[in-house]
Amino acid sequence: MARAALLGARAERVLPGASERKGQMLSQFLTHLPRYVARADAALLTDVDGREFIDLMGAYGPNLLGHRHPRVERAAERQRHNGDTMGGLGTVTIELAEHVVDRFDPVDWVFLGKNGSDATSYALRVARHATGRSRVLIAEAAYHTAHDWGTMFPNGVPEPHRGLTSRYVYNDAESLRAAVDDVSGDLAAIMLTPFHQGFYERPQVATPSFVQAVHHEALRSGALVVLDDVRAGMRMHPSGASHERIGITPDIVCFGKAVANGRAVSICAGSDEVREAADAIGYLGTFFGSSVAHAACLETFRTFDEEGAFGRMLEIGERLSTGICQAARDADIAVEVTGYPTMAMVHVGHAPGPYLDHVWAAGMIRRGVLIHPTLAWYTCAALTDAQIDIVVERAADCFATDVAAEVAARHVG
Ligand code: PMP
Repeated sequence: MARAALLGARAERVLPGASERKGQMLSQFLTHLPRYVARADAALLTDVDGREFIDLMGAYGPNLLGHRHPRVERAAERQRHNGDTMGGLGTVTIELAEHVVDRFDPVDWVFLGKNGSDATSYALRVARHATGRSRVLIAEAAYHTAHDWGTMFPNGVPEPHRGLTSRYVYNDAESLRAAVDDVSGDLAAIMLTPFHQGFYERPQVATPSFVQAVHHEALRSGALVVLDDVRAGMRMHPSGASHERIGITPDIVCFGKAVANGRAVSICAGSDEVREAADAIGYLGTFFGSSVAHAACLETFRTFDEEGAFGRMLEIGERLSTGICQAARDADIAVEVTGYPTMAMVHVGHAPGPYLDHVWAAGMIRRGVLIHPTLAWYTCAALTDAQIDIVVERAADCFATDVAAEVAARHVG
């Protein structure tokens, strides 16, 4: 840990929030988390002290095909020889936009940004201009943006900026209806994530009846449906578009995180119905036209299809959850896996609260498996069968020793 401790001290001096972020880890058990990473290959991370981890967290989403996937890296490298940010757009940007329009339905136009927040804020701007209204509904505890309209961290955000955003309870049609009634007449958009996980909450997939309710409430109020697929995109449906999995036709859809396999690209896309509004708004970014990132993104889509990455990720998620549950049963520890196979979470013990989840995650991290106690895993297609077997073996050891010892000592579980 020597180099990590040194870097930690340096980081705290020059990166605002570095010490606070450490506080947010909330658990003495996470002192082994690889906070400073030297390199990443496929599904392996090596930290600055030379410790290796099988990476089940995928950089919280972006690692889709494996870190530094050769096909994606080659495409980026080819483009790098021609130029990256060049003022005018590269051909690859047009090819990427055409690919997205062909790939997803109902998509006739594309905005390309860098972070997910660029895409969701752009979507909201389009919805506001298209409807001539100002308010937006989002789910309680949903993360959509770092920007003022929806950040979950209120410090530094003036009340008027927050005042136009109201909340409903995810998967609760009654609360959605009440929230719509509350802002009646001025609702520009209902924002929905196909996969929802608030801080310290269990992950949920949008239920068919709730999706129906979103559709109904949007029609009733004249608001647009904005599907925020920044987190779940590429992980819930073979096309990459989760709305095909949950069964809704959004007016506007946003992608980010995984679409360029670790490079900074986000996408907001919509149909011709809202095209005029998209044409009419100004929303610029110096690096929005980065050709290298766009080449990586286009190659990520192609590789995802040609290597059958979706099916593989699903299989990996299912094998992990079956193996981990069996390992827990063998050690007489209660566990539950929630979420979606590609984005799932292990809950340990019967006791309320995440205490044993922390014990388990810390034990796995100490054993060289990167997993998080309060966030779902993100499988990447590069995880090998041998690595899955290792994860399950280490899980068995962790349940039988670390977790069992805590259960015995504290009479929890
Ligand atoms: N939407 C969702 C559902 C997200 O999970 C996130 C990031 N956690 C964002 C939007 C924002 O993306 P970014 O952090 O790239 O700005």
